[in-house]
Amino acid sequence: MKCYNCGCELTTENRTREHIPAKNLFNGYSEEYKTNRIVVPACFICNNQYSQIDQEIRDVIGIINHDNEQQKEVTRQAVKSIMRKSNWVERIEFGQTVNKNISVTFNYSHLRELHLKNFKGIFYHEYKFNLPKNFELEIIAEGDEEFAKLVAIKNMIQKYLETKNWNVSGHADVFKYKLAMLDFSQPSESFDFSETTDIQKCNLIIGELIYHDVINPIIFAADKTYLNSIKPK
Ligand SMILES: [Zn+2]
Repeated sequence: MKCYNCGCELTTENRTREHIPAKNLFNGYSEEYKTNRIVVPACFICNNQYSQIDQEIRDVIGIINHDNEQQKEVTRQAVKSIMRKSNWVERIEFGQTVNKNISVTFNYSHLRELHLKNFKGIFYHEYKFNLPKNFELEIIAEGDEEFAKLVAIKNMIQKYLETKNWNVSGHADVFKYKLAMLDFSQPSESFDFSETTDIQKCNLIIGELIYHDVINPIIFAADKTYLNSIKPK
């Protein structure tokens, strides 16, 4: 058994279990939402690596909350966690409009790190092996709209994944995802490929994650050379 994140061999000393996504996204939800959550084997170091930042996705969801009664506890904890930090004054802006909106800034690099970690977790869960070592991950999330090429890749990935069913960790209202391993004969703009279950033939892995129906990153992984050929310059 290997660690889903770093791929190290697990022993009785360093073996732990990690929930994908983090348990804090389920706070306030009833037990029926929490059964069948994805749990992957993780080494002690990887399991602890994200503990300093693992509130970031929860905090975004809690603040976005569109009057969702079920997210009340997530919102309560998000506000608490933001106000507890010494930099809260810099993060919060009071709107000048009539309805006095309050906005909060988030750490984008922490969010990305967590999305990538979750992607590795669901990949391990689905295929029972780690992402190939020569593969690098790329993420398209909110804020990337200005990069036309990334948006085009995102649209192609979503279009392909449209035909597949959502997989769930716990409950679709909290976390759902789609994954596919693809075999491109030639890197091309036309996105001409077939799906494979053989990692030797796979040169592009694509995935879409949705948290609480509000955060929706697209992630893809490929060999570095291949990735450079499709990434925006
Ligand atoms: Zn590890």
